[in-house]
Amino acid sequence: MDRKKIVAGNWKMNMTMEQSNSLIAELKSISTNDVEIKIAPSFTNLHHAVSLVDSCEIEVIAQNVHFEERGAYTGEVSTEMLISVGINSVIIGHSERRKYFNESDNILSKKVKTAIENNLNVIFCIGEELSERENNNHFNVIKDQISIGLFGLDNQQINNVVIAYEPVWAIGTGKTANLAQIQEMHNFIRNLVRDKFDNNISENIRILYGGSVKPSNAQEIFSLKDVDGGLIGGASLNFTDFKTIVLSANG
Ligand code: PEP
Repeated sequence: MDRKKIVAGNWKMNMTMEQSNSLIAELKSISTNDVEIKIAPSFTNLHHAVSLVDSCEIEVIAQNVHFEERGAYTGEVSTEMLISVGINSVIIGHSERRKYFNESDNILSKKVKTAIENNLNVIFCIGEELSERENNNHFNVIKDQISIGLFGLDNQQINNVVIAYEPVWAIGTGKTANLAQIQEMHNFIRNLVRDKFDNNISENIRILYGGSVKPSNAQEIFSLKDVDGGLIGGASLNFTDFKTIVLSANG
């Protein structure tokens, strides 16, 4: 199955407008037809970022969205607002949202539903804590996160989802899951999607790996059978590192 690889940079709460503008100017020099490049700046930089990438292949995506369509939710941003500034995709369920902002599987399921029903594509993040892996509970955790978050969608809607497997213990820690652990979990996830939906959907859905991906390990991770690219945190803030990672997904 030929799934086009995705390399998505999650800038988190980094980058002023000026810094965002200059990194985008550099990123526009990356030339590849084989990889979908996505960047997720902060809300304040989204509108301008969309205008800057206008004629190139980079997609600007959002890091979060609220589950209600509008109303008295001070500080929140809606699907409609994102779409109005040219955003077509959003990250939902990042472990930092789960951990620091108490976003439960049920809240995330509502976010996914609202985003998809309002025509946003979703990068849905899942991942186990270190203790859960050490207790050999990681497959159950991933199964629950996926079932609650995504299995309320129908066979059409799921096509607008990309899954990002990000073991929490590998995010921002410098520790990467080993290749066997990554392939094993990606294969497990693809099988869950097959069991719930169908073979065609599971063969087409893209599953990204995230967790301390860097120039030195990107190529071997991206060449695993069930890995369709990466969600990159720290290394996406540095042009040379991000470019090397994008090119590692090439071909
Ligand atoms: C992330 O936050 O999604 C991530 C993978 O971060 P890092 O690459 O810094 O581990």
